[in-house]
Amino acid sequence: MAEENNDEDELVIDEDEEPEKDTESGYEIDNDSDVILATQAQQIMNEFQVELVDGIISRLKIYIDASVTEHYIVGIDFSAYPNEKPLITVQESVKNILGDPNEVLNTLKNWDSSNPPPVLNVVRELETILYEISTYKAQAEQIAHEFKIDPAGDSRNHYLITFITYGWKEYKLDIYLSSQFNPPQFKFSTELQEIIGPSDNFDKIKNWMPEYQINDILRDIQWKIDQHERMNFEVDLLYGGLQNIQYDAEQRKIHADLKGVMNTSDMVFSFDVEIPNDYPMSKPIFSLKTEIQDDKIAETLSSATEATLAVWDPFHYLIDVFNSISKSIFSASVLSCIICHKIECPTCGKSLSPQDGSEACFYKCPYCGKPYHLHCWEQNIRAINKCAYCLRTPPQTISETSDMPSNASDTATSDLPSQNTSDDDNINE
Ligand SMILES: [Zn+2]
Ligand SMILES: [Zn+2]
Ligand SMILES: [Zn+2]
Repeated sequence: MAEENNDEDELVIDEDEEPEKDTESGYEIDNDSDVILATQAQQIMNEFQVELVDGIISRLKIYIDASVTEHYIVGIDFSAYPNEKPLITVQESVKNILGDPNEVLNTLKNWDSSNPPPVLNVVRELETILYEISTYKAQAEQIAHEFKIDPAGDSRNHYLITFITYGWKEYKLDIYLSSQFNPPQFKFSTELQEIIGPSDNFDKIKNWMPEYQINDILRDIQWKIDQHERMNFEVDLLYGGLQNIQYDAEQRKIHADLKGVMNTSDMVFSFDVEIPNDYPMSKPIFSLKTEIQDDKIAETLSSATEATLAVWDPFHYLIDVFNSISKSIFSASVLSCIICHKIECPTCGKSLSPQDGSEACFYKCPYCGKPYHLHCWEQNIRAINKCAYCLRTPPQTISETSDMPSNASDTATSDLPSQNTSDDDNINE
């Protein structure tokens, strides 16, 4: 057994603390004291693996197994029993996890020489405590696989669990571990109780079953914290890009406005979002409160919203949906050419209104202000000699014959066959 011990520390029994000079010889003489000591030793030997130190019956090396992998050697000298309490010697590593045996062991702390307990009780208590420490350690290690856990430092079974939630916010939970088959005790802080309620709210705490894992409970707690904190976090994110945000936590409803851009810069798109109870497992429900006249914008908006929500998973946020709505408002609002309905010119490939400052291919009808690619405009003028939208002949084209654009309106009541205006495809080739 000793060879298997993980601890390298040598067990040293302090020679100075040998209680009585005549103990050794006393053992050889068959007197009352020897009988008492031998009885004490025998009781211990019945339960523990023991070696005599220097062949003395009242000085024992005891092997204690706290777990399959944790083996300890403890020295005990009860030569002065029953007049004085036994002297316990432990390895440094045991002292580190146990503390001072005289303080930790109740049998020693409350030793009463007039009515002393059997020495076996001291050894049993020591074994129990070493076993408990080992159990707590194993449980804490198990918890540490998923959660941040640290010893609180004031008692063997008191630990602090730190839940990290959205925005790196932290919540601490006091946990008092128990034996493997008993539920730990949880102490919720007031702050924690305010957001997730009392511990009785958790079914696995209230109705503990031995087959439950502590991590199951902690996962439930984390889930509740996350659910609460996630909404606050999400609403904070919305403030980055949206206006007029209203969050009703009770009704689980959010209202937010998106401002239009370019073509839609005079518009405000108002949304109501319903948050289902099992959000974010279930997707939020978006509804647009603004009536949109322009069919193209309305369609772009609703298909963008649907597309984002179609691939919803708990790793998405409301802001993601709003971002893709915002992108669709942008793309529905950018100017496109009256002729080819595109942003990039089919002839030269340049953009109608480049966002990056590069060169544009752009022309605006001087009458109606509708946007054209310069190339599309030129082809259109060559074909029908007027704006395809307002049907007015522009001044530049007439400038050879007339410099009065206002006259153009008369000629604009075209006598050209209307088929020509639908010739766009050919023109653009
Ligand atoms: Zn064009
Ligand atoms: Zn062009
Ligand atoms: Zn025009």
